[in-house]
Amino acid sequence: MKDTAKHEGLRNQLVTVLKEKGITDKNVLEAIKKIPRHLFLDSSFADYAYQDKAFPIGAEQTISQPYTVAFQSQLLEVKKGHKVLEIGTGSGYQTAVLCAMGAIVYSVERQKELFKKTLNLLPKLDIINPKPKYLSFGDGYKGLPNFAPFDSIIVTAGAPIIPEPLMAQLKIGGRLVIPLGEEVQIMTLLIRKNETQFEKHESGEFRFVPLLEDKN
Ligand code: SAH
Repeated sequence: MKDTAKHEGLRNQLVTVLKEKGITDKNVLEAIKKIPRHLFLDSSFADYAYQDKAFPIGAEQTISQPYTVAFQSQLLEVKKGHKVLEIGTGSGYQTAVLCAMGAIVYSVERQKELFKKTLNLLPKLDIINPKPKYLSFGDGYKGLPNFAPFDSIIVTAGAPIIPEPLMAQLKIGGRLVIPLGEEVQIMTLLIRKNETQFEKHESGEFRFVPLLEDKN
């Protein structure tokens, strides 16, 4: 598990690209600068890890494009110590970025193979401080009621609907970021105003693998 000056240089270049694409949150950019994305990919992709692209991670899933990770992380407005729920752990890269931003991250993955791989990988990355609090194998449509409420919730797969349990597990004032749609997804931000009301903001089209029910 090696990080090198060369990788660090490539990360700095990636941060420049993300700034050019409109990412402004310093906390997000610092986290991207810190997290060695090449360690989250199969070694055959390591040379491409700092391109702004999605790559396969097994089980027909992909690691999100850095721009998408940065865009969603920025919408969350993470503050140090925030309790964040992530649906779709995948490679763990987004999890690591949120941890580096100071969030206390709880993450759920429905694919056993990916869950096991990431459960093994994340503790080995000393660079992530704090570590994710809890990685769980399960169906993210249900959220994690035992650990609710959350300051924010991020869904990293394309969802046909907004799962109600996720809305219910959000604190008042909390933010839920979810790509909504089937073929193409609209990035959607819900801000919880009170017990019953949510404010909705939409920003841009993205393409994600689908949010599927149950576990596999
Ligand atoms: N955040 C990940 C993105 C992985 S792609 C990363 O940075 O690598 C989306 C992930 O969501 C996949 O791993 C997929 O298996 C998972 N997923 C899809 N539906 C899910 C569900 N209902 N609950 C939990 N995870 C789900």
